[in-house]
Amino acid sequence: MLRRTLAATLRRYELPSINRKSATAEFFVQPSRHLMNTSVKMNRAPDLTGSADARTAAAVHSPLIIQVALATPLTKLFDYYAPTATPEQPAPKLGARVRVPFGPRQMVGFVAGFGRSSNADIALKTALKVIDSKPLLPAELWDTLNFAARYYHHSLGEVLNTAVPTALRDGSESKARGVPMFRASAHAANAAVLRGPAQRALLALLTEREHSDSELNIALPGWRAVFLALKRKDLAEQWTAASFIPPGVALAGPQLNAEQAEAVRAIGAQTGVFAPFLLNGVTGSGKTEVYLHAAAKVLARGQTVLVLVPEIGLTPQTLRRFAQRLAVPQVVAHSQLSDTERAYGWQQARSGAARLVLGTRSAVFAPLPNLGLIILDEEHDGSYKQLDGFRYHARDLALKRAQTLKIAIVLGSATPSLEMLKAANENRITTLHLRARAAASALPSQAVLDIRGQSLDEGLATRSILAIRECLMSGGQALILRNRRGFAAQLECVSCGHVEHCPRCDRALTLHRAAGALRCHYCDLRQPLRMDCSQCASTELTALGVGTERVEIALARLFPEWPILRVDRDTVSTKGAMEAKLKTLENGKPCILVGTQMLAKGHDLPDIALVLVLGADDGLHAQDFRASERLAQLLLQVAGRAGRASRPGTVLIQTHQPEHPLLQAVIGGDYAQVVQLLMAERRATELPPFAYAALLRADAIKKDALDAYLQAARALFHQLNPDASSVQIFGPMPAGLAKRAGRHRAQLVLMCSQRAPLHQAIEPWIAALHAGKKPGNVHFSLDIDPYEFG
Ligand code: ADP
Ligand code: ZN
Ligand code: ZN
Repeated sequence: MLRRTLAATLRRYELPSINRKSATAEFFVQPSRHLMNTSVKMNRAPDLTGSADARTAAAVHSPLIIQVALATPLTKLFDYYAPTATPEQPAPKLGARVRVPFGPRQMVGFVAGFGRSSNADIALKTALKVIDSKPLLPAELWDTLNFAARYYHHSLGEVLNTAVPTALRDGSESKARGVPMFRASAHAANAAVLRGPAQRALLALLTEREHSDSELNIALPGWRAVFLALKRKDLAEQWTAASFIPPGVALAGPQLNAEQAEAVRAIGAQTGVFAPFLLNGVTGSGKTEVYLHAAAKVLARGQTVLVLVPEIGLTPQTLRRFAQRLAVPQVVAHSQLSDTERAYGWQQARSGAARLVLGTRSAVFAPLPNLGLIILDEEHDGSYKQLDGFRYHARDLALKRAQTLKIAIVLGSATPSLEMLKAANENRITTLHLRARAAASALPSQAVLDIRGQSLDEGLATRSILAIRECLMSGGQALILRNRRGFAAQLECVSCGHVEHCPRCDRALTLHRAAGALRCHYCDLRQPLRMDCSQCASTELTALGVGTERVEIALARLFPEWPILRVDRDTVSTKGAMEAKLKTLENGKPCILVGTQMLAKGHDLPDIALVLVLGADDGLHAQDFRASERLAQLLLQVAGRAGRASRPGTVLIQTHQPEHPLLQAVIGGDYAQVVQLLMAERRATELPPFAYAALLRADAIKKDALDAYLQAARALFHQLNPDASSVQIFGPMPAGLAKRAGRHRAQLVLMCSQRAPLHQAIEPWIAALHAGKKPGNVHFSLDIDPYEFG
């Protein structure tokens, strides 16, 4: 009955079946024994000893055959003869990089096994060079990555490449060069007073903090000779930094409250076992303090710590707090680093020189030795899921890694994901609560603002405008959330009704007025703004919908005497730009902040007294199954930004559906109630976390080719899995964005109430799809545990 609800929902989107007879498995070669064997091999627990295997293999067959993981889409390993072992080049170890011939070119891959991976009777080539004498990655990380390749049914070679910085993928030794920095040595504090004034001056500078040579050139010309003199006395030293945060001075933090202290104790209490924790605490309840204390304990034991955050650019405060409070060398890892910086940081982590890595999604693969604790902040955040290529979820792999290592992992959030809350209900993860705001500020009062039948001024209701004015007049700062950038969502012709669409995507173009352009937010196409309709040449065009740019203009007109800051991807793109913008708020003077969900993330905005949410209804109507969860999280997160200091905050949500149960639950400020609603809905529709899903996404220039391919893929699934009745398959159906950058997109949805049967059914199927033909230049990809269906 319930299953029918989901089936009915999904079937609505199914494409009409095109002549099923011709669309059977003809595109696909039958899964050969060869492929089946490969995938079975891949499924075996990885052998981390390697060497024993290697010896046996070498003894029986000579020469040694190695199975190499190469960065190709194929989920199989490639067999080669190992180069003849010499003293300079010993037999390759499991996990070492090797250079091999591959077709007309050479590739670098990882030794992932020994002996033949297939019975194929083809002549093997010999690997050209063994690059590493030891495995490149720590054994536990190798283990986790092998698990990831099996779990996501993804090429092990590509998975390994994701974990290794670009600079090391081509097989080179490190090209990474650090930045030289100069600092006082540990002895400097006890040194007798120096006689030379230059030496005294330099030592004072270096004691205060470390400096780079360009800084010293300015501060103290001719400093280099002076530095050498200090160095001879062992008072100063040079070291190398790149993406380094220098070791901090371990500033003391606030005294922990009882709940925080209990959380820190619980996290540190268990050693040598996998200990997952969900730290559930409202924004401002002091979760970061718990992270800092838990990390300090682990560092004091001599172990290393991995900290994951959704977006570093938006949370410079978090970075600073870790740097100031933990006096160990730390390294940051995120996508804004150059290849060199990243490779350098990676090596600092691998060598153990850096004791803490703080990074975004891909930092889950940081090669820290002796890892003792993983912290993952804002666990519910969608940015932990990689949306293309190797579509892993950093939280899930972090859990797997902690399990492999038998260590504690702390997942923090004010609005935990339904997945983790379900795990908590089933006692698979221990919940730690922080119920009160740490700095004794009250939670904001929240209300919906009914805008039915009201005329809006550029999206703003009269009562909203009054509320903003009142907030500013009483000295507060106001935050206006509008989760859509640009000026207007579309440009419509009044005469003929034509809406300017992206020629390459199935979406209207967004008007960016200041830039004088129409832009596609899906493929980044940019067109100059024309003043006439492209269909009927009428010059009567109207801009429909309200984006942040339009709200900003309206606010400037309504509140000319107050400063307005806009924060969205159009105004804040560069490193540090967000921080610079928000710095101006720190003086606490009245102003208006308007922007997208970027504002809801991470930042303390202590003087915000009013939060106004525009366009919340968009989230209530969105089709994706996670849309309402995301909306509730966004609203609660942004509400958490308000009134964090002494000022009590107010949150107003403009809506046409003031009675909507989800909005009612949100304004109650009680996430538990929101969760109850969402859980009931997901259970009734049997959607994650009450079922496991996988998507086969495909795209092609020609729609017919795409549909035929997916029909055939579906037929093949049934053919390969005649007994997998517990796995339901829906589609083909158009993707949420049915056309993007000139390619049509459609998908098959696979659902199962259990994980194992789903994965078993996918395994032979995906291997056959990789081996099969893809007529019409169809591309496909598999998404396990998709974040969204679309
Ligand atoms: P969260 O990470 O949950 O948002 P934070 O750790 O950033 O919370 O804490 C919010 C604010 O409260 C910070 O300014 C922090 O310094 C302060 N704070 C945290 N714990 C305490 C405490 N025990 N006593 C006083 N202030 C605290
Ligand atoms: Zn027209
Ligand atoms: Zn486009």
